[in-house]
Amino acid sequence: MSLLAAGATSDAGKPVLILGGTAEARELAALLVEVGVPVTSSLAGRVARPRLPVGDVRIGGFGGVDGLARYLRERGIGLVVDATHPFAQGMSRNAVAAVALVGTPLLRLERPGWEASPQARQWCWVDSHDEAAAVTARLGHRPFLTVGRQSLDRFTGPLVDADALVRVVDPPDISLPARWTLLTSRGPYTADAERALMVAHGCDVVVTKNSGGSFTWAKLQVADELGLHVVVVRRTAYPAVVQTMSAAADAAAWVLAR
Ligand code: NAP
Repeated sequence: MSLLAAGATSDAGKPVLILGGTAEARELAALLVEVGVPVTSSLAGRVARPRLPVGDVRIGGFGGVDGLARYLRERGIGLVVDATHPFAQGMSRNAVAAVALVGTPLLRLERPGWEASPQARQWCWVDSHDEAAAVTARLGHRPFLTVGRQSLDRFTGPLVDADALVRVVDPPDISLPARWTLLTSRGPYTADAERALMVAHGCDVVVTKNSGGSFTWAKLQVADELGLHVVVVRRTAYPAVVQTMSAAADAAAWVLAR
């Protein structure tokens, strides 16, 4: 799609703030920078070596709703696109509240969630990490935990005696049970690599958030192939009043239309 061909000249001077940390946020930044729209991407600074988007980048929290509202006013931000991860719920709540204070238009860019394929062993959907931990403890003894570093504390108690394999981008800052195996790596992952990993560890349950996207889908494809249990933590719905799109190109068109 040619955004320039859409006849959009940027309403320059009023920068777009992209709340990022995702592949689709980087894709949107690239599309807007390409056509000369002033963009600042914001990252939380959680991972040691973040993948950086093109264009201006700021790193670190804003200081809650008031801090973000102040930032929007002081920088004269024209539009906000919340393209954070579906489970970055604190940042999303703050974005909704801050734009309401300042009156800045907000768009949500969120990748679609995953769905089980018809031939999959039934997935077990849960509403929280605590529930995921309790269900996992019942379903197996060798779980593969792919829920991210920040949620691991919910699992350490219920799975203290399990032979868990834990995969995270950066090492967790809590101590893990003695029987757990820690693997630090970052996707995307291939089905072949996921199969080799799960077979080598004898995994019997795969635990994940409903992150969606293709980068980490292979583990679920392989779990289904191997007939493993899958425990999936559901997303919390974004406020319905905010317009939501799932493709970066559509979000870029939305920005350019304004
Ligand atoms: P969170 O719990 O929703 O956010 C906690 C606080 O971190 C926010 O209140 C904000 O601090 C700061 N923050 C979060 N995202 C920010 C951003 N893009 N720019 C500036 N400050 C941000 O967030 P999280 O779950 O820790 O995720 C942190 C970042 O990692 C997100 O940007 C997200 O897109 C990315 N990420 C998250 C996950 C996940 O599973 N949660 C996975 C992949 C990537 P202040 O209140 O001080 O503004």
